[in-house]
Amino acid sequence: MSKVKNIAVLTSGGDAPGMNAAIRAIVRTGNYFQLNVYGVMYGYRGLINGEIMKMDSRSVANIIQRGGTILKTARCKEFFGYEGRQRAYEQLKKYQIDGLIVIGGDGTFKGALTFSKEFDIPCIGLPGTIDKDIDGTDFTIGFDTAVNTAVRAIDKIRDTAEAHDRLFIVEVMGRDAGYIALHSGIATGAEHVLLPERPTKIQDIINELQANERRKKLVNIIVVAEGDESGGANEVARAIKEQLPHFDTRVCILGHIQRGGSPTCMDRVIASRLGYAAVQALMEGKHHNCMIGIVNNQLHYTPLEKAVKARQGIDPEWFQMIRILAS
Ligand code: ATP
Repeated sequence: MSKVKNIAVLTSGGDAPGMNAAIRAIVRTGNYFQLNVYGVMYGYRGLINGEIMKMDSRSVANIIQRGGTILKTARCKEFFGYEGRQRAYEQLKKYQIDGLIVIGGDGTFKGALTFSKEFDIPCIGLPGTIDKDIDGTDFTIGFDTAVNTAVRAIDKIRDTAEAHDRLFIVEVMGRDAGYIALHSGIATGAEHVLLPERPTKIQDIINELQANERRKKLVNIIVVAEGDESGGANEVARAIKEQLPHFDTRVCILGHIQRGGSPTCMDRVIASRLGYAAVQALMEGKHHNCMIGIVNNQLHYTPLEKAVKARQGIDPEWFQMIRILAS
């Protein structure tokens, strides 16, 4: 016997490729087990405003390969306040919704936790963020797609850098976490990777660029996470140009292309597994107010209060490896 009859799903915070695959999995799993599944438009804002629609298997046809989120997403100030959350609860009551699945980042989980405590509604969180910066999971929905987009772009940049003997400084997304920079940097053979997790002395990079020039290595790629303490690619370029004005230095900021696009196989599989597991958890009445992640290829349940933004230390050996492999 299922513990829930009517469930709802919403996407909140920044969009991430693979969110649609998760929505599809939730709707189809719910329908299979004869639950009513509702989609909430625009995250918590739509919940407060009652932008809620019933979904069925057909309404999620042909979306597994699409980036973005068919439910759209938003940031919502009203949900920070009790009154806003109360209005959201009234909407849930109207539809007799007895379980809520939220797909987003740690802010989305904080909102869900407060909401579920105040109104006794079971919530399940699924990690949907390109930054891969949440405790309790090895992967987040969207990271693999974003990092592969960055890799394809940097490969192209290297072609033109190679043709002109240029130094390229490429900025990738990652305000608080440098995983996109770290992984895309390794995968493209970048000479340097600058991350918020590790302070870098620009002078050391300049010294190395000079040493590279002496040994006729004229093509260099530096990958910078947007949240690096240096201030981003433009700042790094400015500091380098001051001391190495004769270098042909260019900046490329990849920006929002990293958020969009068709999700990779890996993101679709992760999203499908997590969506399926979220419905099971609600039906079994287990793991309420948990985020479901994947650790060592197994489903992993983390209480929402512990599913917070994580700035994990990155083993210094990785940086030594980057230097050796790019030598
Ligand atoms: P991303 O990692 O992409 O930024 P996120 O889920 O962390 O995603 P936020 O903007 O931090 O994105 O949060 C999304 C929404 O969750 C907020 O706009 C707000 O409506 C709600 N929210 C966040 N923190 C809280 C909180 N402490 N209390 C209530 N609601 C919150």
